[in-house]
Amino acid sequence: MSLDDLYQEIILDHYKNPRGEGKIDNPDAQARDSNPSCGDELELYLKLNGERIEKVKFQGDGCAISMSAASLMVQKLEGKTVTEAFDLLEKFKKMITSESPETEKLREKLGDLIALKGVTKFPIRVKCASLPWDTLQRALEE
Ligand code: ZN
Repeated sequence: MSLDDLYQEIILDHYKNPRGEGKIDNPDAQARDSNPSCGDELELYLKLNGERIEKVKFQGDGCAISMSAASLMVQKLEGKTVTEAFDLLEKFKKMITSESPETEKLREKLGDLIALKGVTKFPIRVKCASLPWDTLQRALEE
């Protein structure tokens, strides 16, 4: 199995079995965002304990990339602090928008999120993969 196939498999698995799909009642942070160029829509709910992200849930409708990106993000965020979340966001964006050799260094930090690396070649898909992170940023900055 090639690395691309493996990545494809991770994306499909998250698309078919999304982690953290649903809603949180009385969330501490919440945001909605969309990606009109593809038709993706996402709503994100966060439960915070001080600086720490205790729980994340999402509801959305969109393509396989955006939905699996949301699931992958949720899986990665729980237990992280807000500062760590912004750090991840920055690394993730760097990974999907550049082919820099630095990506290898990011791999360790990003874990399964690296599966979305393939979108780098498709600028229109970069927006799909970024949507959950843009929504997160919006939720945490409000
Ligand atoms: Zn999309």
